[in-house]
Amino acid sequence: MPDEMSRLLIRGRGDGGGGSRHLEASAPGVPLIGILGTGDFSRSLATRLVASGYHVVVGSRTPKRSAATFPEEAEVTSQLEAANQADLVFVAVFPEHHSTLVELKPALAGKTLVDVSNGLQINRDRVSNAEQLADLFPESCVVKGFNTISAWTLQAGPRDGSRQVFLCSDSQKAKSAVTQLCHRMGFVPVDVGLLSSSLEIENLPLHLFPSWRIPVLCTLSLFLFFYLYNFLRDVVQPYVTAGKRSFYKMPIETVNVTLPSVALVMLALVYLPGLCAAVLQLWRGTKYRRFPGWLDRWLAGRKQFGLCSFLCAALHAVYSLCLPMRKSARFKLMNAAFKQVKAGQEDSWVDEDVWRMELYLSAGIMALGLLAFLAVASLPSVANTVNWREFSFIQSSIGYCALSMATVHTLLFGWNRAFDSAQYRWHLPPTFLLVLILPLAVLLGRLALLAPCAAHQLQKIRRGWEKNRHIRFTLPDDDCHNGVEEASHV
Ligand code: NAP
Repeated sequence: MPDEMSRLLIRGRGDGGGGSRHLEASAPGVPLIGILGTGDFSRSLATRLVASGYHVVVGSRTPKRSAATFPEEAEVTSQLEAANQADLVFVAVFPEHHSTLVELKPALAGKTLVDVSNGLQINRDRVSNAEQLADLFPESCVVKGFNTISAWTLQAGPRDGSRQVFLCSDSQKAKSAVTQLCHRMGFVPVDVGLLSSSLEIENLPLHLFPSWRIPVLCTLSLFLFFYLYNFLRDVVQPYVTAGKRSFYKMPIETVNVTLPSVALVMLALVYLPGLCAAVLQLWRGTKYRRFPGWLDRWLAGRKQFGLCSFLCAALHAVYSLCLPMRKSARFKLMNAAFKQVKAGQEDSWVDEDVWRMELYLSAGIMALGLLAFLAVASLPSVANTVNWREFSFIQSSIGYCALSMATVHTLLFGWNRAFDSAQYRWHLPPTFLLVLILPLAVLLGRLALLAPCAAHQLQKIRRGWEKNRHIRFTLPDDDCHNGVEEASHV
């Protein structure tokens, strides 16, 4: 748990907290909950339980020493006494110390034990802590749960942290009791099934952004590649061939040329797996064969690819706005004006350049706006308010609009530079040419799938038609356009 979790979270006795709670908790008929252990988790849990109207009895090896850190309403006593009194007992001790509790076995027989423990690292093949606890206490009903809730969240209340509590147990009765308790504490219980699912629940808080690993790695690799490419073309080449020192470009200009390159390629990578999946289905003539693992993972990570693309595009916008603030830009402007005056030129207005710039900026702003819209629409709180068709329309159709706008933005940046031999420094093509390959391929692939024959065939396959089974199959007329809309959305 993070360091902040290990701070003393609870006000001690005599701090004046919870007078009214005491009255409520003392009312007859209020259930009694036991907690074994007096650490951070136990203290936070006791406070939340007391605030939710429960009697709490805490079992400690050294009750006298620990009592001062608990709210007044909770009774702190020996482990045996706590185990004897309560029917539902939280085991808030580390799993390596579970075995020291075996002498409580008779007192805990027939009772519900809630295992809140977490491991130190992800456990893939060993038996879970909860299953080990169930082996130690075969006469008790073990429920796994609350391990994904930090002591801090318990202390602050469910409104501040994650509200979901994942529960599993082999005893339906015990699980129902803990479910009820969750509701009363303001949490949302999520039934994950039998105790065999406890390993999954124990691993949950130990994952470190598993779905972000490949998209982030991809973004960093692309950034490194394009940065070095631009550095070579814009800084090293002028220095080597003409002795021109352009190293000042490294922190802003080179980064600002690199960011949009990464953003556009990452955006194309959002839509490429959908095309691959559609082509694979057309080629196989069935949807009933699994995609290869890499394609499955790629399809599942499209949201993260899109958000990485949005981040790079947003940074590019900020960098671009800052370009005129730099001293180097001011010097360049003054020098150009000075040269112009010296050459006796009065007007440097070039219509073609003006139009190119206006269109280029407008397309860029539109692309960023659409990307921002897609990013907001991918937030769970927003995505949950739309139905599947609306979600697919936003992420597919509007997403393709964003990709088209970003591609037009890059094409306008390139304009006729692709045909200028001076742009091929050391025979290296300009960056925008490399960047455009993937988005153009994706857009053309999408257009190809929109062709009626491909869209119709794909629609039939998605409705269960198979090439190798000679079954008569007719699509309802009004479904045909749906196939076109979802041609690349898998
Ligand atoms: P902690 O502060 O170290 O408390 C552990 C408690 O276990 C001690 O205070 C001790 O209380 C008791 N204990 C019983 N037998 C023990 C023994 N043989 N050796 C040492 N201690 C013994 O730990 P914690 O942070 O409260 O965590 C407790 C459990 O909750 C762990 O399994 C952890 O994975 C889980 N958890 C914690 C958090 C969190 O945010 N802290 C979140 C989710 C899950 P007495 O000395 O009074 O007996």
